[in-house]
Amino acid sequence: MKRPRNTPKIAFFELEKWEEDYIKKNLKNFRLKFFRKDLTERNASKIRNFDGIGIFIYSQITQRLLNKLPKLKLISTMSTGYDHIDLAECEKREITVCNVPTYGENTVAEHTFALILALSRKIIESIARTRRGNFSLEGLRGFDLKGKTIGIVGCGNIGRHVARIAKGFGMDILLYDVHKDKKFARQVGAKYVKFDTLLKNSDIITLHAPLLPATRHMINLKNIKLIKKGAILVNTARGGLVDGSAIIKALDKGILSGAALDVLEEEELIKEEKQLLSRKFPMERQKNVLEEHILAAKDNVIITPHNAFNSHEALARILDTTVKNIKGFFNNRKTNVVK
Ligand code: NAD
Repeated sequence: MKRPRNTPKIAFFELEKWEEDYIKKNLKNFRLKFFRKDLTERNASKIRNFDGIGIFIYSQITQRLLNKLPKLKLISTMSTGYDHIDLAECEKREITVCNVPTYGENTVAEHTFALILALSRKIIESIARTRRGNFSLEGLRGFDLKGKTIGIVGCGNIGRHVARIAKGFGMDILLYDVHKDKKFARQVGAKYVKFDTLLKNSDIITLHAPLLPATRHMINLKNIKLIKKGAILVNTARGGLVDGSAIIKALDKGILSGAALDVLEEEELIKEEKQLLSRKFPMERQKNVLEEHILAAKDNVIITPHNAFNSHEALARILDTTVKNIKGFFNNRKTNVVK
C-alpha cells in the first residue's frame, strides 16, 4: 500500500516478534520500523528522520542521543517508569513523552488469590501427591475463605482489586493505607484500620504498598508478635516490604501458618515487571533469586518468581496503551503524557 509522503514514521525498539506483529496490526496508518535491540547513539542514525519512537527502559534517551534525532516529536515508553528519559531535554525540544501508567491491577490481584487459594486448599501438596499416584486425603484439609478476615496493606489499584475479589469470596475486609478512600471502603464493605489492628485481626495479610523508605521492612521482627496466630502472609508487591528473617521466625514460631511470596528482597533492582522477560535480565541474578527460593522452600511457604504481572492480557494492555498514545498524539488527543 502506498502511503502519503507525510505519513508519520515510528521506530520500535526492544520488541519481541509477537509484539512487533501486534503493533503492525494496530498501527496500520504509520510507517513502522522494528529493532530487537535498544536504541543507542549508534543505531539512532538509522531513524534520523523519524517522528516517533516506542522504547523500553534499556533505551537511554540522553541529550546526545536526541541530537541524532532532529525530527523526533514523540517518545512512547512501554513502561510505567520513565527515569531512562531526559525529560528536561525533551521539554526543551518540544518532544512529548508518554508512558503506560497501569496495566495489570486485576492481573496481580488474580495472582494474589491464586497464591491464597494454593495455601488455603493445599493445592501444591495435593497435586504433588496425586502425581505420585497417591490419592490419600491425610494432611490435606484446608480452610474456607468465606467469613475469614483479609487485611490489605496498600489500597491502590491492585489492593482495591484484591478487595473486590475478597468481597466475592464473602470475606471480611480490613484496609490499611496512608490515604483513605472512604467511598471505596463503603462500596466493598471494608474498614480502614491502623496497621497494628490489621496485623492483630487478619487471617490473611496481603501486601500491595510500594517500596519506599517508609514501607521498607514494614513487617519486621518487632511487629510479627502482633500478627494473629496462624495467619497467612502474602506478598506480591516488593520483597523489601518484609524482613525475611522475621518471616522465617514467624513461621518457625507458628505465628504464621504459611507465606506466599511472588517477590523477594534479593531482586530489588527490578524497576519494571516487564524487565523480567528481557533477555537483558542477568542470568546470574536469576540464579540468586532461585537460591533464595530454595532457601525459603519450607513446606508452608510457596514462592512464584515475580510472575504476578505476567499474563497475555497484561502484556497486551502495555501494547494497547502504547498504540493509543501514538494514535492520540498524531490525532491531537494526547494521552498519558509524562510531565
Ligand atoms: P498504587 O500506587 O496504585 O497503590 C499503592 C498504594 O499504597 C496507594 O494507595 C498508596 O497510598 C499506598 N501506600 C503508600 N505508602 C504507604 C504506606 N507507607 N503504608 C501503606 N500504604 C501506603 O500501586 P499498585 O499499582 O497498586 O501497585 C502496588 C505494588 O505492587 C507496587 O509496589 C508495585 O511495585 C507492585 N507490583 C508488583 C507486580 C508483580 O508482578 N508482583 C506487578 C505490578 C506491581
